[in-house]
Amino acid sequence: MGSTSYIEISSDALTNNIDFLNSILKKGVKISAVLKGNAYGHGTDKILPALEKNGINHFSFYSSSEAKTAFECKHNTTTILIMGFILPNDYKFVIKNKIEFFVYEIDVLYNAINVAKELNTKAIIHIDIETGMNRTGFTLKNLKKAINIINKNIEFLDVKGVTSHLAGAESIANHFRIIKQLSKFIQRVKLLNENNIYPQIKHIACSAAAMNYINSQFDMIRTGILIYGYWPTKETYINYVHKHKIKIDPLHRVMEWKTYVMSIKNVNEGEFVGYGLGYQAQTNIKIMLVPVGYANGYSRSLSNNGHVLVNSMRAQVIGTVNMNIIICDISQIENVKIGDGVVLIGKQGDNEISFASFAEMNNSLNYEILARLPENIKRIVV
Ligand SMILES: *Cc1c(COP(=O)(O)O)cnc(C)c1O
Repeated sequence: MGSTSYIEISSDALTNNIDFLNSILKKGVKISAVLKGNAYGHGTDKILPALEKNGINHFSFYSSSEAKTAFECKHNTTTILIMGFILPNDYKFVIKNKIEFFVYEIDVLYNAINVAKELNTKAIIHIDIETGMNRTGFTLKNLKKAINIINKNIEFLDVKGVTSHLAGAESIANHFRIIKQLSKFIQRVKLLNENNIYPQIKHIACSAAAMNYINSQFDMIRTGILIYGYWPTKETYINYVHKHKIKIDPLHRVMEWKTYVMSIKNVNEGEFVGYGLGYQAQTNIKIMLVPVGYANGYSRSLSNNGHVLVNSMRAQVIGTVNMNIIICDISQIENVKIGDGVVLIGKQGDNEISFASFAEMNNSLNYEILARLPENIKRIVV
């Protein structure tokens, strides 16, 4: 399918990470695996069945189209939850198939009720509460309206959950805001209960919150990044290893992204490499070309900055990331040959590329690079 690289998914790593998650959970807390963004680039159709084998039976997505992909490859007893947007024409599919979803606006609530009526069934909803992030969720005023509407139409609704999202539990800098959000969440749940609405599942924690704020786990956590073997931030990692006095990362990376050396050249001192004046050779250098670029999910932000592995050594990207190609300096690496394996994310020998080293520059980079990996790259479960 026009792919110039491939992705290996390690089922052992997935098992390891689920075991780790279970070790940080309070007793009885359920895991919802977050598979939005094509399972953070890993491939929903590969990750979902592999996680089912590890006992996970609850999956969260962002949109109805993602939920449809999941519906094709899941077990009958597995639950799908949509945390975000449902296309207007998808409500029927969602409600008919008992796919659960966040209700964050009065409009969404009315859509749910109307379509459930039409199908003579109940829509299974999670009430999304605005607690301080100012993204989705009911403000107090709208929550009161929603409570009235829910109670008048309860024969068409199954209020399964109550939820919110925390605005940055991965950094102590947001501590005060997070604590305020958690207490507002508890107040709003109380308000629901006072109005005879008792959602079974209270959930607010993402990966970072589940680790840094044990009390945020409630009945279920929605965890994404940890499942794939990445820490939300370096800070979360350092907190954990300090507290538990361990030296080895307990998470294993699930993905390895690989390709091959395409071409090799020598460049003389003073010459420019690639487009424009982006990189000038300071000495005589040797370069290799690797057939991935921003159209293949290799972010332009890695221009003059990213690294890949070849012959178990790190080679730096020089010049800008092109649409379908990057250029790497291999002057210090011996015996590189055309056709040799190149690791874009993952391990080779004692070296590893995880992008985590860029996390200081941009917290979202792990998430972003993973989520941008195109769907047409072949994924193989090993
Ligand atoms: C992405 C997302 C999560 C999971 O976040 P991680 O940091 O990957 O654990 C949880 N909840 C919502 C609403 C999300 O959008």
